[in-house]
Amino acid sequence: MDTALSHRATNFVDAERFEALIRLAPPESAEVRAVIQKSLDKQALSIQETAVLLRTVDPDLIHEIFDAARTLKRNVYGNRIVLFAPLYVGNHCINDCAYCAFKRSNLEAVRRTLGPVEIEAQVKALEDRGHKRLILVFGEHPHYNAAFIANAVRTVYATRSGNGEVRRVNINAAPFDHDGFATIKEAGIGTYQIFQETYHEETYRRVHPAGTKKGDFLWRLDSLDRAMEAGIDDVGIGALFGLYDWRFEILGLVAHALHLQERFNVGPHTISFPRLQPASGVDLSEDLMVSDADFKRLVSILRLAVPYTGLILTARENAALRRQVMEFGVSQIDAGSRIEIGGYTEAGDAQVMEREQFRLGDIRSLDTVMRELMANGYIPSFCTACYRLGRTGEHFMEFSIPGFIKRYCTPNALTTLQEYLVDYASPETRQVGEALIEAEIRKLPEGNGREQVTENIRRIRETNERDLYE
Ligand code: SAM
Ligand code: SF4
Repeated sequence: MDTALSHRATNFVDAERFEALIRLAPPESAEVRAVIQKSLDKQALSIQETAVLLRTVDPDLIHEIFDAARTLKRNVYGNRIVLFAPLYVGNHCINDCAYCAFKRSNLEAVRRTLGPVEIEAQVKALEDRGHKRLILVFGEHPHYNAAFIANAVRTVYATRSGNGEVRRVNINAAPFDHDGFATIKEAGIGTYQIFQETYHEETYRRVHPAGTKKGDFLWRLDSLDRAMEAGIDDVGIGALFGLYDWRFEILGLVAHALHLQERFNVGPHTISFPRLQPASGVDLSEDLMVSDADFKRLVSILRLAVPYTGLILTARENAALRRQVMEFGVSQIDAGSRIEIGGYTEAGDAQVMEREQFRLGDIRSLDTVMRELMANGYIPSFCTACYRLGRTGEHFMEFSIPGFIKRYCTPNALTTLQEYLVDYASPETRQVGEALIEAEIRKLPEGNGREQVTENIRRIRETNERDLYE
């Protein structure tokens, strides 16, 4: 196996500079407002400009940052929220990450890997609830090699239940070499996510023991470069908040995004910002935990710093916080999630810690989350059109092509919502949803888009046609 780093493996994390930038004195209000305005003018922020927002402590200015993040989200992306679900395939792991229940030293963990028939059962259960987009999650283990992951992806795409099908499979798994990434790409994946966990090398070494595969900071930092060199053009980055100073991690994420943008002319598709959660066999130090108040700041600042990039807020967070944070620019959430292996058919109402990677904060059903989203003015979307039409870098298009959202994103969100309402929704959710669809169609400009979506909605309601998109 080729374990070489890519030719130009660079450590783009300038730790000394990051530390210095986050420790400067709080900025003047004029400086903060100039940075906010740059973001509202649709320009990505530099490291130094992002640090200005991170150093802002004046409560009024922090509110201006929140307001700007809301404005950017509403004006630029509209009110859609894309929904997905995680599917944990296997939790065997050769690593020993201090924070994770799957670490090899955790003897309490119940270890298991789903076979093809079990994957099918999970996928059918997810399809029967209305899901169309999944992320497959794996521990790191020789058994979970690239061919194994590619086969799991193929099994998911081939599994159908009634009108249900999975139209986009994303991956969160260990990094591979170039050949491995190419093998997985061939199976037709959407996004490949790898979280750096922490961009602070010293902390990285502390929580990922030397001698483990994951213990190699640069191999991990370079992994999405290798993925992109191998042809995966849709990647997701992330940091695990609670390991080191959250402001440093934000600079790491922004540096990573800028690095990919410079090197490949396309930045990451998504950024994830999981906060450390309680996990079986894990003792969490409270020192660096990110408070809810700081969590809202970090999401808003990310929104402003990387306006072209999708932001993912997971069910690690509880429902009340998810409601609040969503408005600061989140574009994707998971819903109805269970992360026990086999959890979509076997789990009861309570979570079983020995069977999952960490405790989830929000295990409400997809139907409940959909209804709440709509009551709060969002359009839940299962759209996969851009990816399937080869319109990669969809966030870039949403952002940069005038009228793209009204012409494509909103109509496709509405048709996928209508499919959900007809096939899976409770009567109450269907009622709320159909009223929302009528109202949203009226808001679309007259012309092509409005007529086409009206016709597509009619076909979905009156015939058994599905998967209509533009
Ligand atoms: N094993 C692969 C890896 O490490 O890259 C796949 C990822 S792991 C199954 C998914 C992610 O969950 C990790 O990258 C980490 O950020 C996150 N995670 C691990 N333990 C966690 C915890 N206790 N609380 C919240 N997130 C956690
Ligand atoms: Fe294994 Fe990933 Fe958990 Fe680390 S985070 S112990 S590599 S599953």
